[in-house]
Amino acid sequence: MVKIGVLGLQGAVREHIKSIEHSGAEGLVIKKKEQLEEIDGLILPGGESTTMRRLIDKYDFFEALKSFGSQGKPIFGTCAGLILLANEIIGQDHAHLGLIDMKVERNAFGRQKESFEALLPIKEVAEDFEAVFIRAPHIISVGDNVEVLSTYKGSIVAAKQDHYLCCAFHPELTDDHRLTNYFVKMTEESALTAK
Ligand code: GLN
Repeated sequence: MVKIGVLGLQGAVREHIKSIEHSGAEGLVIKKKEQLEEIDGLILPGGESTTMRRLIDKYDFFEALKSFGSQGKPIFGTCAGLILLANEIIGQDHAHLGLIDMKVERNAFGRQKESFEALLPIKEVAEDFEAVFIRAPHIISVGDNVEVLSTYKGSIVAAKQDHYLCCAFHPELTDDHRLTNYFVKMTEESALTAK
């Protein structure tokens, strides 16, 4: 059984653990960078990206997260986690981890639509995924190596680049575990080839 960590500095952590366990993997809350050595894949949860970045620096996670990714280990960024993975953020001079070649805009769905749900087709995952958007970002453009997995009203809301996966919504807040399941499969495949 693969072990999947959820970065546990801030945000929707417990729900991801439940979804991971539901998808047939072991879930681990990651609070120290040393714990990254114990896991095969990592989820960066939703929350608030600037706060999460501050805590990443405070607990000395930054280089450890980049090196986790550069070893080929899968990372799944959801909502604020997607923002952390992008290499360009509108209105900000600096990106965070910069692991996915994409330009993102924070809080992209406007005030009246701060939170909403939509049934989305996600390539390779589902025709009707129950997506919960909470002050969600969207992806404005992606590089050639990035595969768009889902769009909502013309905005890109899920994408994949090699072993990095991201979505603008919260896949852990409903009983629809199909996207987490997809990430568990990615992690299982990567763990097999790493052996
Ligand atoms: N708006 C948040 C940010 O910019 C993301 C919201 C979320 O993760 N639900 O970081």
